[in-house]
Amino acid sequence: MVQIKGLHKEFGALHILKGIDLEITSGEVCVLLGPSGSGKSTLLRCINQLETFEAGEIRVGGDRVGFAEQPLGDGRLARLTEKQIAAQRARVGMVFQRFNLFPHMTAQSNVMEAPIHVAGVPVAQAKARAMELLERVGMADRATHYPSELSGGQQQRVAIARAMAMDPELMLFDEPTSALDPELVGEVLNVIKDLARSGMTMVVVTHELGFAKEVADQVVFMDDGIVVEAGPPSDVIDHPQSPRLKDFLDSVL
Ligand code: ATP
Ligand code: MG
Repeated sequence: MVQIKGLHKEFGALHILKGIDLEITSGEVCVLLGPSGSGKSTLLRCINQLETFEAGEIRVGGDRVGFAEQPLGDGRLARLTEKQIAAQRARVGMVFQRFNLFPHMTAQSNVMEAPIHVAGVPVAQAKARAMELLERVGMADRATHYPSELSGGQQQRVAIARAMAMDPELMLFDEPTSALDPELVGEVLNVIKDLARSGMTMVVVTHELGFAKEVADQVVFMDDGIVVEAGPPSDVIDHPQSPRLKDFLDSVL
């Protein structure tokens, strides 16, 4: 579902991603771990084309992200048009740490927004689908509430429903619970677990090791822009090899 080869990302003089190789199969849950500044968010943002990158290739669902398949005469690859990029991006759902929802819209309107305005779905249909999704994340009874009237955990559950509304092939979660009060973390993780069980392919940046052990097929540990270790949680979390990963695991426990 996702293939990343030799991905390099620079911000000016800063070399942030230094040759990332990663493969995520369909239906897989990949948990991304790593210290602050290691490039986890940047990697997700490259996958979802919120950032461009300098070298390497990303494929989602077989399609090369951001660039045409056929090289130009000089061997370079042509950038896709904005419209083509928007179409690729619509196939990927993303949930951030916070500030996910449009504050001036109800929960239901938040979920309906992209289907209506991006995909051109008729309002009645988008509304019905939004209610289904809110039901699924346990938020149907709050459909008419505004974000300011919801707890952080409830807002995140609506944000997940909103990301699902475009029927994405892939979901990206960037520390979806790290801004939440501890007692609200579980309800959001349960929604993500539910999605995982339904077969959704996902990449989750999180420091919740319990979640990673329970749900992840693959755990990827990044440090300083490279993948240091990757494998099943029984290897990466239970039997870390590199000193950097051992230190990291000690620090988050
Ligand atoms: P955290 O756990 O704190 O979220 P992270 O692993 O997600 O960290 P990134 O946000 O990907 O790390 O950042 C990686 C590096 O890239 C950091 O050094 C950061 O300062 C730098 N960086 C990120 N975005 C930009 C930007 N727009 N311009 C310049 N540097 C950036
Ligand atoms: Mg980050």
